[in-house]
Amino acid sequence: MFIDTVAVSMTTIRSYDLYKVPPRWVFLRIETSSGLVGWGEPIIEGRADTVIAAVEELMDKYLIGEESAKIEHHWQLLYRGGFFRGGPILMSAIGGIDQALWDIKGKQHGAPVHDLLGSNVREQVRVYQNINSDDTDDYRDLANEAVEAGYNVLKLFPATQRQYVEGPEEIDEICRRVEIVRETVGPTVDIAVDLHGRISTSMCQRLCSRLDEFDPIFIEEPVRPERMLSIDRQSLSFQSPLALGERLHTRWEFKTHFNQIPIDIAQPDPTHAGGISEVRRIADIADANGIDLVFNCSVGPIASSSCLHLAAYAPNTVMQPTPANRYISDYIENPDVFSQQDSYVDVPSKPGLGIHIDRETVTEQAGNSVNWQNPIWRHDDMSFAEW
Ligand SMILES: [Mg+2]
Repeated sequence: MFIDTVAVSMTTIRSYDLYKVPPRWVFLRIETSSGLVGWGEPIIEGRADTVIAAVEELMDKYLIGEESAKIEHHWQLLYRGGFFRGGPILMSAIGGIDQALWDIKGKQHGAPVHDLLGSNVREQVRVYQNINSDDTDDYRDLANEAVEAGYNVLKLFPATQRQYVEGPEEIDEICRRVEIVRETVGPTVDIAVDLHGRISTSMCQRLCSRLDEFDPIFIEEPVRPERMLSIDRQSLSFQSPLALGERLHTRWEFKTHFNQIPIDIAQPDPTHAGGISEVRRIADIADANGIDLVFNCSVGPIASSSCLHLAAYAPNTVMQPTPANRYISDYIENPDVFSQQDSYVDVPSKPGLGIHIDRETVTEQAGNSVNWQNPIWRHDDMSFAEW
């Protein structure tokens, strides 16, 4: 007897709930007619209410009563149906919905999401630890702690509040922080440097060429997003790989950047860039351009798990941020899914996204006031400073 089909009953989207929870996250729960539930994380950090309004509008207008499995069909409608497209709010709203629909589809088929994307190409995903302090003296201890915890890659944020154009003392201080970490961890631990868009295009050239000496695995977002397209490797003297993309939101934005500037590492975010569906495409386009991936993920467990599935699928993945975070384990019943062996997390193997959200805790926490905003920094003359 040959079996070439397995009955998978059609399931429609029946209802949804949104939860704004500490520290700065939004969880979307979609329930279907068959009782299957999927979770997504639609959020732009600091603009939670705006994204919630967008999700409500999209769900109510387009998705209630529709078949949950038609993910790409829905993606096209959500992206193109309003005539105006793209941007962080719409793409993050679509991103959270898309994650929840993939979660449902995986559960429907009894398969992890990466299996539905093709398959996993790796068993584990490398993860990095952030190191961030305003005090240069902290960098040695923080680096030691991370290495003792097993990390073999660290990401530093050495450029705290900066004027766009700085003198030698400030440049020396940024370099000193990276130098301390290199001295502490030696050559076998990788160091990434995230400049958080805090420096000018002209300072980028001066600073990044100095950072080459410490062999960073990459230098991330040296200048603010609207200035990224001004970076021209020919006019710059630094050799370190260039990473960016956490503030790009569609495959077309990535394509423009891939075509115009010499990116070595793309950093799409599975929430902010339109969900698993769109980030998968960005991953493939990056691969076709000879560009590797370090996924961005600065929010909660559902986005982190989405990241792991994409990292499992995409051969050009280098690593992603560690999901080790107190808040993440607060919201899931199976925190072992994120358990780490040194600098590695196993690819999830359970159906869907592979995490069990603790709805009771989520409901409880959603009652608490959550109004996280990123800090607003000012220079001495009160002009705006990049956070
Ligand atoms: Mg960054």
